[in-house]
Amino acid sequence: MRWDLVPRGEVWRKRWGELVRGGRLPAASLWIGPEGVGKTLAAWALARAVLCEHGDRVVACEACSSCKATTQWLHPHLLVAVPLPAEVSWEEGLAQWRAALQANPYLTFGGWLRELGLRSSARLSIGVEVVRRLQERLSLALAASQWRIVIFWHAETLTRQASNALLKLVEEPPMRTFFLFLSTRLEALPITLRSRCQVWRFSPLSPQELEALAGTAIAPSLLPLAQGSFGRLKEILAEGGPAFLQPVREWLRALWTGHAEALLAPLENLAKSPQLSELLLGAVLLVRAHPHLSPFEKAYSMDLLLQAADEIEAHIQPPLVLWQTTLALWEAWRGEKLPLLAWLGREVSS
Ligand SMILES: [Zn+2]
Repeated sequence: MRWDLVPRGEVWRKRWGELVRGGRLPAASLWIGPEGVGKTLAAWALARAVLCEHGDRVVACEACSSCKATTQWLHPHLLVAVPLPAEVSWEEGLAQWRAALQANPYLTFGGWLRELGLRSSARLSIGVEVVRRLQERLSLALAASQWRIVIFWHAETLTRQASNALLKLVEEPPMRTFFLFLSTRLEALPITLRSRCQVWRFSPLSPQELEALAGTAIAPSLLPLAQGSFGRLKEILAEGGPAFLQPVREWLRALWTGHAEALLAPLENLAKSPQLSELLLGAVLLVRAHPHLSPFEKAYSMDLLLQAADEIEAHIQPPLVLWQTTLALWEAWRGEKLPLLAWLGREVSS
């Protein structure tokens, strides 16, 4: 990956270059920002620059065997840890992750779940086993001209045990070894780990940047759904653009019409969507445009939906969040509680 192919790559290249030239390289950096804004690509470009045999550690030559290996994420001195279910081995998981990333360099967490054939993120983590394996690899000596880089993708999934095991490594890192933690949520990482890292912040991409990356104009109704993430925008476009919102439209329609019986199918359908948080953001737009809700009802409902999207983003149980939001919206719009028991009774007896 070349810096010029990374969103805002010039900014990151300059910042890294200043550190290299100033001899102020941090042993550990923590890159925080929404997913789909280019953190992984920037890490990839940095790894390439650091590991290149002929470069100045800032810009890669793009021709040496190291550059070729890094392009495939296969360089022996480029170590990567990604969230995996317990039954998948590190090697197996990494091979799958590399292939997924080659196919889509803006791979999102949701996209990774789908790659693994999982519906929930509950079983995904970077466990202590992987950290032990990394320790073994890092104990191997490096030649004087060699450098090494260790990337944690979605570092917020490090288990407590794994991050504790990492502390010593990060505190007293082997020579010419860089730890790079990529994460969407700063507060999800233990403060002991955070405090040992230099923090870089990646902000959401502007609509212009998104359009430039997409290489085409994007329907104005879709841009807010992407929330500055090119990864999300790609997924939304792949899902058929405006048709993407269909499941959330049906759910809201059932809520609006007030037939409890008609709610179950759209609710189940929506809960199945791997892009639930994006769909709830879409619901915010639909509620905003609704002709019959008062400004107060709109503001309150949009708040509920945004909060739900946030919680799902934070990997809190999606079906539960969706169910609670459904109950709250029903109550807000009808002034009554959803006749849950009668409804469930009918479901059970039918
Ligand atoms: Zn090179």
